[in-house]
Amino acid sequence: MHIVVVGGGVVGMTTAHELNRRGHQVTVLERHAIAGNETSKGNAAQRSYGVVYPWADPAMVFKALPWLFKQDGPLKLRVPPSVETLKFMFATLRYAWSPGLFGLNRRAMLRLGTLSRERFLALEKELNLAFDGAHQGLLHLASTPEALEGYRATHDLLTELGIPSRLLTPDQVRETEPGMTGDGPLYGALSYETDGTGDCHLFSRELAKACEANGVTIRYNVEAEDLVAGDHKVSAITLRREGGLLETLEADAFVICAGCWSNHLVKPLGLDLPIYPVKGYSLTVPLKDPDHAPASTIHDDNFKVVSTRLGNRLRATGFVELTDFNRDIPEARLATIRKSVESRFPGCADLNAAESWTGFRPMTPDGPAIIGRGPRDNLYLNTGHGTFGWTLSAGSAAVIAQVIDGEEPAVCLDAFRPGRFAE
Ligand SMILES: Cc1cc2nc3c(=O)[nH]c(=O)nc-3n(C[C@H](O)[C@H](O)[C@H](O)COP(=O)(O)OP(=O)(O)OC[C@H]3O[C@@H](n4cnc5c(N)ncnc54)[C@H](O)[C@@H]3O)c2cc1C
Repeated sequence: MHIVVVGGGVVGMTTAHELNRRGHQVTVLERHAIAGNETSKGNAAQRSYGVVYPWADPAMVFKALPWLFKQDGPLKLRVPPSVETLKFMFATLRYAWSPGLFGLNRRAMLRLGTLSRERFLALEKELNLAFDGAHQGLLHLASTPEALEGYRATHDLLTELGIPSRLLTPDQVRETEPGMTGDGPLYGALSYETDGTGDCHLFSRELAKACEANGVTIRYNVEAEDLVAGDHKVSAITLRREGGLLETLEADAFVICAGCWSNHLVKPLGLDLPIYPVKGYSLTVPLKDPDHAPASTIHDDNFKVVSTRLGNRLRATGFVELTDFNRDIPEARLATIRKSVESRFPGCADLNAAESWTGFRPMTPDGPAIIGRGPRDNLYLNTGHGTFGWTLSAGSAAVIAQVIDGEEPAVCLDAFRPGRFAE
């Protein structure tokens, strides 16, 4: 089959790679001049297969409110919020308060995480891509006794699902992360031993090159505008090339992997995808003192900031901000990220010289991504991956390829079904 993939982020590129492996002729449409240049560019770089959880977390609803009023609080909201923001917040509350839903969705995401890890390991063996990738574990630090207590339930759930994790004492944390010499409060950590790291942007670009070498056509600098559809099938897609020229491209099937920008293609066919851009920020900087830097990746629960080692660089990331598509980078956000890094890894890098970035998590109001058949027989969706698209990209690409080929997907996709928002 000739299959068009819309979007050359990490999800589009892994999808293209899976389809190509299966013998399909694949064309990727990407409006940027390179792959992985939107949300996949400056993320926290964690491949956190054991951490994945839904956005609509009932335990977070009341915890999160006071964060709005703290200078360094991880949650920010533009005041007054837009209609889109309010709709997203109310939908989130509805899902958070649906009895049992969080637990079901979390298990579904963890199963997809396990598959994703397997697929990443296979892909890395097959292609040998240079993206500062590693699987050396991930630590969730506990800066209070209550946080450590809370990790016990997660540890039990992971054990039940056969996902390795370990509760660590502060001394064990320092053995695992010897560069962590800062005086930030520490009561222990939950260690996700089989999780990993990697530069999602580099990975997307390297995978794009590998795909092209294997016969995938990647068309950069083109904007996919409309799907041309009858009652049952999509026959073509219209795209705008540089210079404004319009073109119609026919194919046998279409996969939408356009992250935050997916809905405008699908909505005219009768399916509204409530994907909201949840903003975050990152700093990336070469290491000055590698011995005092993270060995792998840590989540500092004190500031909700992630610090990750990427080869000889540090990536530090934080904030969940509801402010629509606003690309401003306020100094106050970067100051909080710097404060967290300095409290854990003082002197590891010159944070004032770091490259700053902002991006938008393509978030669904419940949390699981949208994976499956869309509103026409040959239209498929792999989008809305929110906080965990880098982690789940390899797994979601594998299952959408199975769906397209009419096979039983390797993990149950009920939690990810595209039509659930209308139910
Ligand atoms: C601050 C922050 C930290 C994060 N940390 C992590 C992390 O540690 N681990 C993790 O797993 N995830 C993390 N994420 C989430 C992760 O980055 C995303 O889920 C993932 O990058 C989404 O990939 P994507 O390919 O779906 O979207 P994108 O990377 O946004 O790709 C979509 C692509 O589609 C293209 N496109 C859109 N519309 C069109 C069109 N009409 N025509 C042509 N092209 C189009 C865009 O240009 C873009 O390149 C983080 C996100 C943020 C913001």
